[in-house]
Amino acid sequence: APLAAPLCNALHHHRVKLLARKDPLTALGNRMALDAALTTAVARAQRFGHPFSLLIIDIDHFKRVNDSLGHSAGDQVIRSVAAQVRDCLRPYDQAFRFGGEEFVVILSQTGVAKGMQIAERIRRRIAQRCALDSTADGQVTVSIGCGEIRLAETVEALFDRTDRALYRAKSEGRNRSVAAD
Ligand code: GH3
Ligand code: MG
Ligand code: MG
Repeated sequence: APLAAPLCNALHHHRVKLLARKDPLTALGNRMALDAALTTAVARAQRFGHPFSLLIIDIDHFKRVNDSLGHSAGDQVIRSVAAQVRDCLRPYDQAFRFGGEEFVVILSQTGVAKGMQIAERIRRRIAQRCALDSTADGQVTVSIGCGEIRLAETVEALFDRTDRALYRAKSEGRNRSVAAD
C-alpha cells in the first residue's frame, strides 16, 4: 500500500512522456520524437558505421483537398496516408508526422538504392489506396525525397539534401520519388 501512490505517479509520468511524443491525429511519432530518433540514428551511423536513409513524404496539392472538401476530409486523408506509410515499413523502421501534411521515415540499415525502392512502394500504395473518390481528380498522391546519411554528415545537412530531392520531385511533376545527390 505505501508504494501504490508513487507507483501510480511513475506510471502516469511514463504515459505523459509517451503522449508528448505522439501525434494525436495519426498516432505516429511527432516532431519531438523524430528529433530524438534522428540524433540516435546519426550517432549510430558515425560511431558504428550503421547506415540509414531518410524519406521526406509530402502530400501533393493538399490545399485543394482542404479547400474543396473541408478540413475534416483533409484530416481523414492525412490519417489514411499515415496508415499506408506505416503498413509499408519493416518493424525496425520508424515513421513520424513532421508537420501538416508531411511525414518523415527513418529506414535503418538502408542505403539510398533500397531506400528508393521502399519510397516507390509507399508512393504506389498511396496512389492506389488513398482515393478521395473514384474520379481521377480524387486521387491522393505524394512526392518523396530520399537521402542516405554520409560519413560525418549532420542531421541538418542530411535533411536539407533530402528536402531538395523532395522539391525536385514536386517540380518534376509530383507523384514521384527522387534520390538526394
Ligand atoms: P504541394 O503539392 O506543393 O505540396 O502543394 P500543397 O497544397 O500540398 O502544399 P501547401 O504546403 O501549400 O499546403 C499544405 C496545406 O496543408 C495547407 C494547410 O491548410 C494544410 N494542413 C496543414 N496541416 C493540416 C491538418 O492537420 N489538417 C488539415 N486538414 N489540413 C492541414
Ligand atoms: Mg508541405
Ligand atoms: Mg503538400
